[in-house]
Amino acid sequence: MKEKEEELNLSEKKMKAAVFYAPRQVKLEEISVPAIGPDEVLVKVRAALTCGTDRKTYLRGHPLFKPPFVFGHEFAGDIAKVGSKVDGFQPGMRVVAANSAPCNSCFYCKNGEQSLCDSLFIQLSGAFAEYIKIPAIIVSQNLLPFPETVSYKQAAFLEPLSCVVHGVEEAKINLGETVVINGAGPIGLLFLQVAKLRGAKVIITDLQEERLALASRLGAYQTLKISPEQNVVEEVRKYTEEQRGADVAIEAVGLPEVWEETLLMVRKGGRVILFGGCETGTKVSLDTSLIHYSQINLKGVFHHTPGQVKKALNLLSDKLIKVDPLITAEFPLSEISTVIEWMQAYKGLKIAVIP
Ligand SMILES: [Zn+2]
Ligand SMILES: [Zn+2]
Repeated sequence: MKEKEEELNLSEKKMKAAVFYAPRQVKLEEISVPAIGPDEVLVKVRAALTCGTDRKTYLRGHPLFKPPFVFGHEFAGDIAKVGSKVDGFQPGMRVVAANSAPCNSCFYCKNGEQSLCDSLFIQLSGAFAEYIKIPAIIVSQNLLPFPETVSYKQAAFLEPLSCVVHGVEEAKINLGETVVINGAGPIGLLFLQVAKLRGAKVIITDLQEERLALASRLGAYQTLKISPEQNVVEEVRKYTEEQRGADVAIEAVGLPEVWEETLLMVRKGGRVILFGGCETGTKVSLDTSLIHYSQINLKGVFHHTPGQVKKALNLLSDKLIKVDPLITAEFPLSEISTVIEWMQAYKGLKIAVIP
């Protein structure tokens, strides 16, 4: 009975939300709690996280979202309200959602390559608010309950971890292989842990000492600080057997110069995972003989599939990945301007926003 009353009141209720109006213009406002349709679900956000994509969106806007829209896309919470036609979910359930869902009817979906879906629905935004509406296509595919043993902040790692699961699957890492990861940001540190689960020896590079120290604590075999005096490719090779290069090299930065260096770090026949997205229109140069005679495999990796989202949730639920050390700070939603300042200045790894 109490739940019903609360449900009725919700539609007239106001909530706090961080609204994006234009690049560098995000305002904390009181707006209406989103109304949901019969196939949709309303989630009370308990924890949200910042992400590199949010940083880019803040500075440049986002091609898929027309302002004004509520900012943020990584979150976990409790179901507040369920549409009349939704099965399997009830108010009070702890849930986390990926930010997209594939159409399941295009060529790519039918071919099992759902991250390449021609009409990938990738429009879930609104995590930096008290409530978020989950669209029907995500409810039916990528809205997942999680156990009480996983905190809301931990569950909110689902989306980035799903992308990393995708990358590690494409890298086909085998037991005892050497993997080099360029970039010890949140993505690189997730890659480190998933690669280790695959039995890899991991070398990781970054500009920041603090990030590398954390990488060591999380089990990196060797960390390398990038400096202008050192040739990072040679340094990496030194830590591989007979200096032949790594079996797998992963780019988790998104800079053309790092893309180019990454492919010089693998052995003949090695696999290169190009994960970090560069600015649109960026070009890199490749040594064709190197690619040809060394049979190097280059693989671009983007986004995730519902199967990978489920695997990522299993990793979180089974406590196989440590995500708490990746959260540098926590702020209430009312301090969103500080969160944005930190994000802009690359201060810390991930920042938790608690409505
Ligand atoms: Zn993200
Ligand atoms: Zn599709």
